[in-house]
Amino acid sequence: MKNIFFTAGILLLFKISLDAQEKYKPEDTEVWEPVPEVITPGENDLPPSDAIILFDGKDLSQWTMEDGTNAKWEVNDGFFTIVPGTGNIITRKTVGDCQLHIEWSTMKDSKGKGQWKSNSGIFLMGLYEVQVLDCYNNSTYSNGQTGSIYKQHIPLVNACKPPGQWQKYDIIFKAPVFDEDGSLIKPAYITVIHNGVLIQNHVEIKGETLYIGIPTYNPGPSKMPLMLQDHGCRVNYRNIWIREL
Ligand code: MG
Repeated sequence: MKNIFFTAGILLLFKISLDAQEKYKPEDTEVWEPVPEVITPGENDLPPSDAIILFDGKDLSQWTMEDGTNAKWEVNDGFFTIVPGTGNIITRKTVGDCQLHIEWSTMKDSKGKGQWKSNSGIFLMGLYEVQVLDCYNNSTYSNGQTGSIYKQHIPLVNACKPPGQWQKYDIIFKAPVFDEDGSLIKPAYITVIHNGVLIQNHVEIKGETLYIGIPTYNPGPSKMPLMLQDHGCRVNYRNIWIREL
């Protein structure tokens, strides 16, 4: 008896669904506006036509030291290198929600270990660090290894290449949102792809990434400069571009 009611119920649901479908024509669910802007994608990770180029291999004109003076890092042929002890560099441009492409390589001759093996970092809005480190055969705490959201999120896998080889991050970042009196409405979110491999999948950033202590948010503008960290190690960077979202 139970089975009869069950079958009748299924048939009724099927009929209701069919009736609903018959009310619609295919074009009823087509959306034609807005038409996405036509852009030209870049070959081999070069910037697409709508990207803002932050380093094209020639100069650091898009960057300054944190005090606004000219960037003191060393520009080489097609890439630049951290000069340890000079300090962090920041973009002249302020950035909030964005897609960021950045390439980096660690040093073959680094004698450092743990957090001192080619450590640098990409700080979205100058506050939220995606760790840059040589973790190819180099162990450290998991939430501080390459591709970690520093001391907040362990990467899903270790996709490091050996020192000396170029590596890349593709990052999608959603800035935090604060209301007028400075309360957090929405935290920041980040997705990181390392050498083509997803390592951070839309994780919630818990606040500013700190060396010591519990992360918290401090209200601030919706766009701030991107920062690259001088952690006292030499690291190379090249091909840096963003698309504002
Ligand atoms: Mg770092």
